Amino acid sequence: MSIKTNLTTPTTPAPVIPPAPNGKTAMIIGAGPAGLMAAERLAGSGYAVTLYEGMASAGRKFLMAGKSGLNITHNEDLETFLSRYGAARDRLEPHLRKFGPAEIRDWCTGLGIETFVGSSGRVFPTVMKASPLLRAWLRRLDGLGCKIHYRHYWTGWDENGDAIFKTKDGDTTTTITAKADVTVLALGGGSWKRLGSDGKWMEILTNTGIKCNPFKPSNCGFDVNWTDHLIEKCAGSPVKPVTLTTGSQTVRGEFVISKTGIEGSAVYAISANLRDQWLETGTATVMLDLAPDRDLTDVTARLAKPRGKNSMGNHLRKALGLDPTKIALIFEVTPRNILNDPAKLAMTIKDLPLKITKPRPLDEAISTAGGVAWEELDDTFQLKKRPGTYCLGEMLDWEAPTGGYLLSGCIAGLSDK
Ligand SMILES: Cc1cc2nc3c(=O)[nH]c(=O)nc-3n(C[C@H](O)[C@H](O)[C@H](O)COP(=O)(O)OP(=O)(O)OC[C@H]3O[C@@H](n4cnc5c(N)ncnc54)[C@H](O)[C@@H]3O)c2cc1C
Repeated sequence: MSIKTNLTTPTTPAPVIPPAPNGKTAMIIGAGPAGLMAAERLAGSGYAVTLYEGMASAGRKFLMAGKSGLNITHNEDLETFLSRYGAARDRLEPHLRKFGPAEIRDWCTGLGIETFVGSSGRVFPTVMKASPLLRAWLRRLDGLGCKIHYRHYWTGWDENGDAIFKTKDGDTTTTITAKADVTVLALGGGSWKRLGSDGKWMEILTNTGIKCNPFKPSNCGFDVNWTDHLIEKCAGSPVKPVTLTTGSQTVRGEFVISKTGIEGSAVYAISANLRDQWLETGTATVMLDLAPDRDLTDVTARLAKPRGKNSMGNHLRKALGLDPTKIALIFEVTPRNILNDPAKLAMTIKDLPLKITKPRPLDEAISTAGGVAWEELDDTFQLKKRPGTYCLGEMLDWEAPTGGYLLSGCIAGLSDK
């Protein structure tokens, strides 16, 4: 490791690297789950590990994921689990086979954190939060001799190939450089910038000739041109149970009507297809089945019964057991002439077209697709153009649904170390 300062800023003492059993050093940039796991693996195989993190503390997005319980992996059979990684399956599979759901649960137990399988197969720590796991993890890394330098923001490489960091002490910004035998970039995706992963690394890598595919929102909500009336009546309300279909993908679950459109687990599950449809054609429609437990014949027969003095809303509630949110949604998108025709109305309720105007902004997405292109990496995720430098986690060009697949994919890298 060599530390230099530029001419215009004060000198910073060089971080001390502890002696390493294998005599080699590793520098990890980014202390999210991908970087922390790389540190654990490399320290475990004898490297003297130093982490550099731009924020003032580690794992901020990981802690945010803990707010919804920290769904750390999924308990389904491995074949189904692997299929969730879509086009990136081939590249991630060797690593996920070595460190998959069972190994993740054992690893949590090893850190003193028990896990349980929820009703949908999702795996959570029993404490339903991330902070105890993160604390235990950082203690383990400390015990392995890993050093972490916070507020060290990586800005690229200098002409010698050394990594450059900007570090702030009060009003003074200092530049230092560092190098190691092995460098791991684990800089995250491009959403939730305030938690540290600002995606600016993409320009740095692109400028050095490393191909990166542009970020796209993944597991995101979508905008819909709701009327003020619907927003007033339904914003914040769940729609459930419901099935959503886009292209050949159908998902059953629930979503939430927001002030701007739709969001929530079932929307996230179809979001990649819906987003791609929108990117390709400039428009996208999701088909909703608001009565997923009744077939079309049943719905038609129930709607055909005389409604007497009942309003249409009451008729829908009594005949099909629909709640006010589903009824408002039907009124929102259904032309009046169809409302008065039981057969056509039944077809609409079973196949209601909801036109989306665009995905929500990148920064709001749970995760991002796009990132370092796979062709830039060998099977160990080492950059072919920069031997000794690896890229891990969400900064690689893959996506997966929510359900624990994101964290599982992020911590699978360097599984051979
Ligand atoms: C609200 C929310 C809930 C989520 N819930 C779940 C869930 O329940 N289950 C699940 O599997 N996934 C979940 N995710 C996704 C998951 O948290 C991420 O996929 C995962 O954290 C990505 O890990 P990573 O280490 O690749 O990147 P990150 O966690 O983003 O870590 C990257 C680190 O690099 C640092 N960094 C970035 N640029 C620089 C730089 N230039 N210099 C120095 N440091 C830098 C950042 O500060 C950050 O600490 C959730 C995400 C969000 C936003």
